[in-house]
Amino acid sequence: MSKTYALSDLIRADNFIDGQWVPAASGKRFAVTDPATGERIVEVADSGPADARAATDAAARAFPAWRDALPKERAAVLHRWHDLMIENADELGRLISLEQGKPLAEGRGEVLYGASYVAWFAAEATRVYGDIIPNQQRGKRMTAVKEPVGIVAAITPWNFPLAMIARKIAPALAVGCTVVGKPAEDTPLTALALVLLAHEAGVPAGVLNLITASRENAVPAVADWLADSRVHKITFTGSTAVGKYLARESAGTLKKLSLELGGNAPFIVFDDADLDAAATGLMAAKFRNGGQTCVCPNRVYVQSGVYEKFADLLTTRVAALKVAPATDAAAQIGPMINARAIDKIGQHVDDAVSRGARVLTGGRRLTELGPNYYAPTVLADATKQMQLSCEETFGPVAPLFRFDTEDEAIGAANDTPFGLASYFYSQDVRRIDRVARRLEAGIVGINEGALASEAAPFGGVKESGYGREGSKYGLDDYLSIKYLCQGGLE
Ligand code: ADP
Repeated sequence: MSKTYALSDLIRADNFIDGQWVPAASGKRFAVTDPATGERIVEVADSGPADARAATDAAARAFPAWRDALPKERAAVLHRWHDLMIENADELGRLISLEQGKPLAEGRGEVLYGASYVAWFAAEATRVYGDIIPNQQRGKRMTAVKEPVGIVAAITPWNFPLAMIARKIAPALAVGCTVVGKPAEDTPLTALALVLLAHEAGVPAGVLNLITASRENAVPAVADWLADSRVHKITFTGSTAVGKYLARESAGTLKKLSLELGGNAPFIVFDDADLDAAATGLMAAKFRNGGQTCVCPNRVYVQSGVYEKFADLLTTRVAALKVAPATDAAAQIGPMINARAIDKIGQHVDDAVSRGARVLTGGRRLTELGPNYYAPTVLADATKQMQLSCEETFGPVAPLFRFDTEDEAIGAANDTPFGLASYFYSQDVRRIDRVARRLEAGIVGINEGALASEAAPFGGVKESGYGREGSKYGLDDYLSIKYLCQGGLE
């Protein structure tokens, strides 16, 4: 199957429920805007509880047949979906850049990254094994089989409008779950386009349903899923505050949860590091998507002996970054997502400066480019008292903290309720082993800044959440284990 779409044909404005494009029951709409200009792109459905309920009804009707499809049949559908994503990578990438603001090359990169999860889980669909348990009692046969959990509600953020939802839908569909989803209000268009391609790929009506809503109406719409005992699982990527709310509110029906929440990633540069490699790794990890990823280093710890040298190396590179709208092919940093985001970045930098941080480069809004631009920034002399040491800045700001000993660096790195990604650079093999074991994080980059892969388990510890996406472990979150005990076999 091959079908390519023009960008205008990929832009959908209605919900997708039971295989049909339908407006919100209330008829309400809200505007999706281009973060580069603030201009309206299109108005999409502003859904409420009635639409959420209709999506669940469709997912419930579709579940038995999808669950009972052969794994290789589900895999074939996912492979077609993957192929359509790849064929439409340029236009999907443009759509991501349009609504989210990341540079075009990163937009296209996100399509390939998201599609890699679909291919991965298409293959994994056929490898869901159970166990025959060695005999423990005469006359009985014990087996463990895995079953899809049922209807999955997927709620996703704006920073990766395609990858975050693809890596939830793909494992869910692979194992035979049906899905109701709601993308972020800032970036619903890419998710709607993905659903269009999924339908084209042969995902049956009701198996994948997507509703869009403004923040205000998302709360009651999602609350309908939280309270509905037919929805067995919530998979969420977003802030820790909302993750905790979802956990609390879904407790009434005890849902299975996967929560990929905020981080506060440390990036440690030891005296014995290859400084050039560390600067390259930090540039890749920190400034991707303008610093708006949950694995972006938020605190950079540099050992005293190399502090000034590393600060110089980094500042030269950061000052050279090209800030421009995604439409400019040379752009390396685009606009931030919205006014709230840019205000928070400004507030973090102002707070740091008022407490003694030195601006080595950047440190200001670029209002001459548009409403949502912030200059890539390096701050020296950052301290624990500053707001940016305990909250995710989610922007292009690298604060440099100084440390003397390994123990001090590890203590500071772990001194946070969060535990998603962490990074360190060292060339001492024994130190590498020690530090990797002691960092409290779900993901550790060792002399490496680019960690993402569909073959690796992505997820956090502590208040960064639980569950893993991608890898051979990624299916477990969508499966439950059933124990079969057959007696009377003497
Ligand atoms: P961010 O701060 O990055 O926007 P959020 O955690 O606020 O992250 O949002 C992530 C996703 O959760 C979005 O799809 C958003 O609409 C949704 N969301 C936010 N608050 C709620 C809520 N109270 N109930 C249900 N969904 C919510």
